[in-house]
This record gives sequence, structure tokens and C-alpha cells, in this order.
Amino acid sequence: MEKNIMILPGDGIGPEIINETVKILDYISFKYNLNIIYEYGDIGGIAIDKYGTPLKDDTLEKCKNSDAVLLGAVGGPKWDTTEPGKPRPEDALLKVRKELGLFANLRPVKIYKPLISTSTLKEEVLEGVDILVLRELTGGIYFGDRNRSSDEKGEYAFDTEKYYRFEIERIAKLGFKTARLRNKKVTSVDKANILESSRLWREAVNEIHKEFEDIELNHMYVDNASMQLIRNPKQFDVILTSNMFGDILSDETAMISGSIGLLPSASLREDSLGMYEPIHGSAPDIAGQGKANPVAQILSLAMLLRYSLNFISQADIIEKAVNNVLEKGYRTADIFYDKKNKLVSTSEMGNLVLNEIKSLN
Ligand code: NAD
Repeated sequence: MEKNIMILPGDGIGPEIINETVKILDYISFKYNLNIIYEYGDIGGIAIDKYGTPLKDDTLEKCKNSDAVLLGAVGGPKWDTTEPGKPRPEDALLKVRKELGLFANLRPVKIYKPLISTSTLKEEVLEGVDILVLRELTGGIYFGDRNRSSDEKGEYAFDTEKYYRFEIERIAKLGFKTARLRNKKVTSVDKANILESSRLWREAVNEIHKEFEDIELNHMYVDNASMQLIRNPKQFDVILTSNMFGDILSDETAMISGSIGLLPSASLREDSLGMYEPIHGSAPDIAGQGKANPVAQILSLAMLLRYSLNFISQADIIEKAVNNVLEKGYRTADIFYDKKNKLVSTSEMGNLVLNEIKSLN
């Protein structure tokens, strides 16, 4: 059956790293007869320049009708504006997530042995770390009622953490399903000792767990989780948590790995449609210089194959190839710390991964 991917390179280094990734997609698709059809679209600053809007309706429509979206990055100083009413590149990202109903954000963080020294944590703490932070993306305090007012004590402001049971249940289901593809353990993070919304969170997660008895579940308060991530990150497999706690913990987890250019992410909904992108931005400071690390983008393609298209073995091959290339000592500038390694450009890194994939078949 034909699979359709919408590719949105965006701004800055987006087109360069997408270029390297598409070489790999073309090869994998041809080699394994995957019947993947893809189409390009504009998003972000480039779309503002061409059409006056960061995301045209027909591009959005094509995303909705595809099996998955592969995004580079958007933004740059040219479009930085605080003028009300002026279009901003980032508006397009929020629009895609909202219109596609992508309620879950997945951020895997794996420690690559050859890069272990780039982290600020000790080697023995890091070895073997393989965590996936699963963050609820469309509910909670970022979307609840908020306002400012004043009373006899003075001015005040409030934000509201509100979760519906169905919102918790669907992300919990995805958490247990994802854990099944990994190391079969879910740590649900909340603040149930204080917050009523967290008590509902815990109740709903426990309820859904009854359908997934093969998966180990434990609960942890968010303050403890933030400590445990630094003390003993190996204890985690899938971290399941709310929008705000996930926002904070996913950045903490990303930093454990020590490099922003290596980390992919996915935003998903129930029927497996998803958007896949590196966690980094458009890096305008290095755009067009052949310095960008394409690995996070390439690993985003691996996630796309795994989670949206169910091509698990091909995803495994891409991930293994990246690991092997790093083990052989090839580094783009952002991870070139040791003179013993070999410094390579964006396209050299892409070709190295591609050739490694070819040799793994
Ligand atoms: P950034 O992630 O683009 O860059 C931070 C630093 O990391 C820079 O020094 C950059 O050169 C480096 N870097 C990032 N990705 C790299 C890669 N693949 N290889 C090598 N080095 C890399 O964050 P920023 O500088 O805060 O933001 C730049 C622009 O990107 C802004 O316009 C911002 O709004 C936008 N942004 C977009 C997204 C997105 O598209 N999802 C996310 C974050 C920021």
C-alpha cells in the first residue's frame, strides 16, 4: 500500500539537513520496496516571503491527508517580530499541531557511547541510558483559563491546570503501547500529593494500566523525577507526563545527552499520523555553511518509519548506522571535541550514514 509523506524543510539549516535525510529515505524506500511517495511544501519564514503566511491552507490540507509529516525547522532573525498581527514562522508549527490534533510529544534520548564525554554527567551514570519522554501536548495549564485581576490585596494573576479524563487516558494508552516497543516500563510523573488534576491523572493512568499488564508502571512526583534524572537516569524507560511537567523534564533529559544536534522528536495522535522534527531550531548562525549536523533530522525519519509507517526494521537500521558512524569517529563541528576524531560537513555526514546503511543490508 502506498504511503504518503509531506516534507516541510522550512528555514535556516532546515533544507540542508532535510536534503541529507531524503537521500536516506530514497535509498530505504527503493531497497525495501516501501512504496513511499513524498511531496515538498513551504513552511515558516520562506512561506511568509513567498505567500505572506507561514502555512498555506493547501499545504495544511496536504499534511492532513498524508501518513506523516517530516519537518526541518522554522524561524530566523529576518522574521523575528513582536508587532501584533504580523505573521511569525512559529505560528505555523502551532497551527499544524492543533489542526492535526497531535496530542502527544515523544522525545527519545539515547546515550551514544562515543559521545558520552560530551555530557556534563559522569560516564558510569550515563552508560546505557535510553529514555523516551512522552508529554501531553494539547491540555493542562498551557491551555487552561488564565487572567489578571486585582482585589483588596492587590494585583494578581492565575493560570489553570485542567485535564479531562479522556485526555489522560489517550496519552496513557499511547505510553503503554510505546513501552511495549521498548523496555516495557512506564514512569508516570505527577504532583498527586498536592494537585487534584494530578490525582485524576494517577487514577486514569492506573485504570488504563489494567489493559497493559505486561508493562511495569510506577508513579513519581515531578520534583523527585527531576532529581532522579540526574542521579540515576538508567532507571527510566518511558516517562509519561503532563504538558508543563513534560516541557521541563524533556529539556532536562535532552541535556543529559550533551548534544542538541542528535535529538529527534515526534508529535502524534491516536491513528498514527504524526509530525517528526529535530528538537533544535533553524540555527541561522550556521545556515548554508555545511556545518549543520543532520543526525537529529535523520533520526526523525527513523521515528517516522517506526511510529507512523510501522517499518520497524528499517528504523532500526538507520539508528544502527548513525551509531556506527559516530563509533568510527566522524563528527560534525557541533560535536567535534576531540582532535583524534574526523571533522565532516553536513553532506559528508549524510553520505557516511547512507553508506553505512548500505553496508548493513
Ligand atoms: P537553535 O536550536 O536553532 O540553535 C541553538 C544553537 O545550537 C546554535 O548555536 C546552533 O548553531 C546550534 N545548533 C542547532 N541545531 C544544530 C545542528 N543540527 N547542528 C549544529 N548545530 C546546531 O535555537 P535558537 O538559536 O534559539 O533559534 C534559532 C531560530 O530557530 C529562532 O528563530 C527560533 O525561533 C527557531 N526555533 C525553531 C524551532 C522549530 O522549528 N521547531 C525550535 C526552536 C527554535
